[in-house]
Amino acid sequence: MSRKTLIVSSDNSHKIMEIRDILKDLPITVLSKTEAGYGDIEVIEDGDTLEENATKKAVEIAQKANAIVIADDTGLFVDKLNGEPGVYSARYSGENATYSSNNKKLLTKLEGVPLEERTAMFKTIIAIVLEDKNIKLTSGECSGKIGFEPRGEKGFGYDPLFIVDGYGKTFAELGEEIKNTISHRANALRNLKEELKKFLEDEGNENSSNK
Ligand code: IMP
Repeated sequence: MSRKTLIVSSDNSHKIMEIRDILKDLPITVLSKTEAGYGDIEVIEDGDTLEENATKKAVEIAQKANAIVIADDTGLFVDKLNGEPGVYSARYSGENATYSSNNKKLLTKLEGVPLEERTAMFKTIIAIVLEDKNIKLTSGECSGKIGFEPRGEKGFGYDPLFIVDGYGKTFAELGEEIKNTISHRANALRNLKEELKKFLEDEGNENSSNK
């Protein structure tokens, strides 16, 4: 089977490493946006859904590249806040938002809400544009509750507030090793791998029936 190139529409080294690790036994070479020569492409994430943003980010590069392209978009959905911050997770507290100001806003909005009503879910969508430009979407989720104050030193974003169901600890307390086996992104990446396996198998079958 010939080796394929997969471009990730991101230069986040943690994401690239995680994706390389999960796909390491497939005949696929994973490149970041810059490694593939598309570092100057900046996509504005102005969609109303994670699906729209992920698709937009992947399609922008796929229009120029002869390779498989993937892009992800993640949001934290808090039930009591009707799904906020959701698709706006990165800039929840405004244009100059930081992880800390976003966490503060979330805690303020949930003031007085008891733990059992602080249920939330992280959701990741991955858009895959195949070489024939067909688009597939995969998703992954992780459920938990929003704590009353930040706990733990590891991770990023909302990790210090997100108490993972079944663990009683925040992602920031659990650390990367555990997080990367149970997280929304890990689940979406496992589904991505299944999708890519199917695609490689179908292609292999097509090639052998054309012989
Ligand atoms: P992105 O789509 O991966 O850029 O994520 C959008 C925003 O969601 C980030 O800026 C973070 O605030 C938040 N976020 C995404 N993934 C995680 C995570 O694994 N833990 C905590 N926060 C996250």
